[in-house]
Amino acid sequence: MKIGIVGAGMVGSAAGFALVMQGIASEIVLIDLDEKRARAEAEDIAHAVPFASSAVVRAGGYDDLHGAWVVILACGVGQKPGETRLQLLGRNAEVFRSVVGQVLPAAPEAILLVASNPVDIMGQITARIAGLAPGRVIGSGTILDTARFRWLLSRHLGIAPGSVHGYVLGEHGDSEVLAWSNARAGSVPLASFAAQVGAPITEDVRARIDKGVRRAAYTIIEGKGATWYGIGAGLARICRAIGGDEQAVLSVSVPGDVLGVQDVALSLPRVVGAAGVTATLWPELDEAETEGLRASAELLKGLVEAV
Ligand code: ADP
Repeated sequence: MKIGIVGAGMVGSAAGFALVMQGIASEIVLIDLDEKRARAEAEDIAHAVPFASSAVVRAGGYDDLHGAWVVILACGVGQKPGETRLQLLGRNAEVFRSVVGQVLPAAPEAILLVASNPVDIMGQITARIAGLAPGRVIGSGTILDTARFRWLLSRHLGIAPGSVHGYVLGEHGDSEVLAWSNARAGSVPLASFAAQVGAPITEDVRARIDKGVRRAAYTIIEGKGATWYGIGAGLARICRAIGGDEQAVLSVSVPGDVLGVQDVALSLPRVVGAAGVTATLWPELDEAETEGLRASAELLKGLVEAV
């Protein structure tokens, strides 16, 4: 599968690395305004290829995207001193307008996978700009928050993360909702499994895991400036679902109506395959989670309308 990556910063490059190490991509084209950076990242990633796969990795221009199945959008500009979040969003919307306008003529069949933050807003803006069929513009959303949730639960329960089923829903950000009430381990409700293995989910455990998921990015940014490996692997996971037409259920962000809020992009469990997102599953939530999700939808709706 040929994959384009626009934005060869830390996130775009980590995605490229994860894609070659897992043998998901046969060809990767890295594009960046900073061409020297794109060439350097492409060469560095290419040197990992002999250890894992046989992918072709190179830097290129938009014309080189021809035939790409997926184009990851990980480009963007950073916050200037004194700039508000909304002003930054406006500038990044302009970047995306220019980038999407160049990606689409070169790769009209591609699914656009948006990684730039705030990802729900950028995904919704991209969907509006691109005008592609619904589900063909996907925001990575809470794919990473869900992974963090499963990982922390798996550590507590002493089982593999892949045996934990639970989702983080809503915004990829502070208003996200950890769907505790329907989380399972194996096929067993979480509380029952936890009691059976002698690792009950006490209020303290729950608070620790909740904080671990919500504060993860802040803690990592404090230590190393930014996060990239986790989201890079999450983007590769979404590409694998598309390339293999897996119909995998992943928490990703696409626009839709949520609890009375019209046309808002946020994450719910969604079916992902070669055509992109083809279905959304409505999770069974308790009252507090439902209200949390509604609040998350309203917050995002307000932001996207402001942009
Ligand atoms: P992150 O940590 O999210 O990866 P970075 O700042 O490391 O953020 O990467 C963003 C990348 O996007 C930078 O390499 C930057 O040069 C690139 N970029 C910014 N604007 C554009 C654009 N219009 N077209 C292509 N690349 C862009």
